[in-house]
Amino acid sequence: MKILVIEDEVKTAKFLKRGLVEAGFVVDVAEDGLDGLHLALESEFDLIILDVMLPSLDGWQVLTRLRGAGNRALVMFLTARDAVHERVRGFELGADDYLVKPFAFSELQARVRSLLRRGPARLSDALRFADLEIDVMRQRATRRGQRLDLTSKEFLLLSLLARRAGEVLSRTLIAEAVWDMNFDSDTNVVDVNVRRLRSKVDDPFPVKLIRTVRGAGYVLEAD
Ligand code: CA
Repeated sequence: MKILVIEDEVKTAKFLKRGLVEAGFVVDVAEDGLDGLHLALESEFDLIILDVMLPSLDGWQVLTRLRGAGNRALVMFLTARDAVHERVRGFELGADDYLVKPFAFSELQARVRSLLRRGPARLSDALRFADLEIDVMRQRATRRGQRLDLTSKEFLLLSLLARRAGEVLSRTLIAEAVWDMNFDSDTNVVDVNVRRLRSKVDDPFPVKLIRTVRGAGYVLEAD
């Protein structure tokens, strides 16, 4: 498996390269957007880890040009903390996943493996689960064609659950992905928001989709 890391912070790039090589991947590194884009278009990579803030071309521009050229390599964005809009934009442009900086290498490795196993999430298209439909591009969600009135966090939460439907997601994972909270934070915010989300996504409909798994977390499931 071949991975391209486009990251201008030398320390982070080295750390990523070393870890990924040790994990058995073949890794190329580009330190600015233009070099990264050229490399990505020249040879085939299974995955591109793409920083947002880059010299010459930023991550958005790299991704836009990459997809514009018909390149469908998996792309994982490295985004800044507390920037939900960055992730939404990344997905709109055709990113497959994102990771919030700073991150632990173990987290990156787990996400890389899961992404490579799962393949492209095609997040620019609609996500569908049972009668639920999520249009990531337009930030719209519907059930049975009925528009759900969600806040941007609720939308992100629902998208996360839908993207990993059938997989039990822990409160910690959800808190990190949606709120950029770390392990020590109070994950009560997750329960509160899941409750609000349920009131909109599940309560008005006979079939409930968001299930609580005691002691483990939440899963989107139609039983
Ligand atoms: Ca950077």
